[in-house]
Amino acid sequence: MKNLDFFGNEVEVVDPPKGRKKTPKMQEMFGTVPGRTCGECAHCYGFEANRVWYKCELWLKLCFPHGGHSKASDIRLKWQACGKFEEGSDGDG
Ligand code: SF4
Repeated sequence: MKNLDFFGNEVEVVDPPKGRKKTPKMQEMFGTVPGRTCGECAHCYGFEANRVWYKCELWLKLCFPHGGHSKASDIRLKWQACGKFEEGSDGDG
């Protein structure tokens, strides 16, 4: 099937631009630490609004230099720890 413009002329079909690349997680960049979770890490902190949200201070510095206010920068306490894991948190910051 041909693609035609408003005047009936054949037009070239161009692929749409590819979507933005998803920000790599810390675990993808630095590997994982078996048996440990982000909730146990000193770099994990939480803040409360209408619920508690958790962030990784290292990930924010590396991948979200203009702030990490979106859902894309949230982490889960149960995620397997990354290679930058440091002992020292109960997940509440
Ligand atoms: S283990 Fe620590 S440094 Fe690694 S992603 Fe989780 S909170 Fe961040």
